[in-house]
Amino acid sequence: MKQLYIDGRWVDPRSGDHFDTLNPATGEVLEEVASAGRQDADIAVMAARRAFDDGTWGLQSAPRDRSALLLRVAELIRRDRDRLAELETLDNGKPLGDAHWDVDEAAYMFEYYAGWATKVMGSIPPVGPEAMSLVIKEPVGVAALITPWNYPLLMASQKVAPALAAGCTTILKPAEQTPLTAIELARILDEAGAPAGVFNLLTGFGPEAGAPLVEHPAVDKVSFTGSVEVGKIISRAASETLKRVTLELGGKSPNLIFADADFEAAIDGTCAGIFANSGEICSAGSRVLVDKAIYDDAVTSMIEEAGNVKLGSGLDPETTMGPLISSEHLETVMSYVGAGRDSAAVAYEGTVPSDPGLAGGYFVPPTIFTDVDNSARIAREEIFGPVMAVIPFSDEEEAIRIANDTTYGLAAAVWTSDVKRAMNVARGIKAGVVWVNDSQPAPTESIWGGYKTSGVGRELGPWGIESYLEEKQIYLNLG
Ligand code: ADP
Ligand code: MG
Repeated sequence: MKQLYIDGRWVDPRSGDHFDTLNPATGEVLEEVASAGRQDADIAVMAARRAFDDGTWGLQSAPRDRSALLLRVAELIRRDRDRLAELETLDNGKPLGDAHWDVDEAAYMFEYYAGWATKVMGSIPPVGPEAMSLVIKEPVGVAALITPWNYPLLMASQKVAPALAAGCTTILKPAEQTPLTAIELARILDEAGAPAGVFNLLTGFGPEAGAPLVEHPAVDKVSFTGSVEVGKIISRAASETLKRVTLELGGKSPNLIFADADFEAAIDGTCAGIFANSGEICSAGSRVLVDKAIYDDAVTSMIEEAGNVKLGSGLDPETTMGPLISSEHLETVMSYVGAGRDSAAVAYEGTVPSDPGLAGGYFVPPTIFTDVDNSARIAREEIFGPVMAVIPFSDEEEAIRIANDTTYGLAAAVWTSDVKRAMNVARGIKAGVVWVNDSQPAPTESIWGGYKTSGVGRELGPWGIESYLEEKQIYLNLG
């Protein structure tokens, strides 16, 4: 699709430029996609601005109409489920079953926020007999939504659904590595009857298509999910116009296994927490802290579990781990594996697929480093690949200290059968999400977001829609 979706129409980018999106399992070109630039961004922002200001959407629109649109979108996502999942697998590389899960979650995201559209309520704080103070909630305005490549459709839905429910008009800038399901989402919004300007799609690169949105004075809100590095750039740029900003960034999440844990469940969950989605998860449990009392057994079992991982094309039903997203990312991850070799013991390294059809793919096998010092690079920096760093600990206090010795604070997992310990550790860890006897669930109905450099603001649940709302006090003098 060599066009952009702006103001309810498919249009050529002003420059006429396009770029290739690749199949990471083979390195082959999948499709040519329109590359948006500053001019396109400006046109899209103006379309979104008009749709907000003229009452097409925003303050003057009826919540039930917004709700109805989101329900239609969900219905169409479910209708196109198989095609969307296949596209996601082709563009991102993930196993088809996982892509189906993503698509189902994306549909539910629209259903969930369809419910919230009609349930945004204000409050009336008591200010005395002489006056009445009404606190009402209004949509922020034009929202720029910049998303990553690891869960392309789901991350787009996680931002588009609450933004539209709140009454914001939107411009989506998907990651350049995975634009295909975002293009489908634009088609679906169009078919569902989204009024012109309410949703706009700019495929393209960060500096060319994303940065102009962040800088644009007519954009009121930026919601970004991606790297800490780009998060800082966006935060800085957005401060020029004091935009509202939500940032969901990286992590180096600790996963604590205590000797009293249900051993099998802990091993299964821990391995899934770092090997699922090829480790390309911001909340991946990349630092595995293990009680010295069970350290050797845990390592043996995790090696066994890693050995069961089947690398391959996401389209192959046998595959449990797909390729990484790109050759650049493969180089980055491999350089961390190199750094790991210099600083820790390699306990396990899998093999890449032997299928000659996949020789051009970006495969990195599951890798386990043991006896890692928490000061080592592989324990401090986000790798975003299937690389586990195992760190021993002696007691609860030391485990919490190591867990918190990081600049990140997105998530953590604690495996124990002692309720008191679970609560103490959960309260002791500085992170936005702490799982007890689980790893990675991010229920749509609850909260998501990071402490420290892992982010600013929260998504999902009621917090997701709140982040697209402003609060206004209307003060009535009754004296
Ligand atoms: P990753 O490093 O995981 O690829 P990035 O943080 O680079 O993640 O990218 C996440 C999203 O941010 C992508 O959609 C990308 O195009 C976009 N992006 C990158 N640089 C900028 C920028 N300077 N301004 C706005 N968006 C950007
Ligand atoms: Mg691709």
